[in-house]
Amino acid sequence: MPVVVKPEFYANCVDAATTLSGKEVAFAAIYYKFAAVPDRTNPSRRVFVAAVDEQKSYIQLPKPTWPTVSAKDDENLARLDSALAWHERGHLAIAVALAEEVTAAQHPIASNADGVAQVKALFAASNERQVAYDTLVSHGIHQSIAPEPLRGADTRFYCR
Ligand SMILES: [Zn+2]
Repeated sequence: MPVVVKPEFYANCVDAATTLSGKEVAFAAIYYKFAAVPDRTNPSRRVFVAAVDEQKSYIQLPKPTWPTVSAKDDENLARLDSALAWHERGHLAIAVALAEEVTAAQHPIASNADGVAQVKALFAASNERQVAYDTLVSHGIHQSIAPEPLRGADTRFYCR
């Protein structure tokens, strides 16, 4: 999964912390791919399969900086970076698990309309789970309360 870095410039650490604290300043762009394939046990029928498109999907992380970054700031920024990356990888893991679940359910596809309905159901379920994840961990600020394997460091940033 590629990681895209977005440089962000601040006046100083406090300015950066004000912007970076309490918000999800990174994101995971998740793309699914789907198809109708012959059912292995009954090749006369086709079933819906979904997967995360690992080529298209990516994570974007901020790369905050300001003129007087101290060694301690650098440490704190590195911690924020890895906590944000972990939170975003959680979004990806949720999508991968959902695609696997939907594929394992072997929803039959008999018509184009069935396919469209499955894609819509996938997107709706994905959106619901991603929102629930963000609600549970406050967009990463409380990542430490997430259930395993999503538990990780909180995405907080302090100047000290
Ligand atoms: Zn999130």
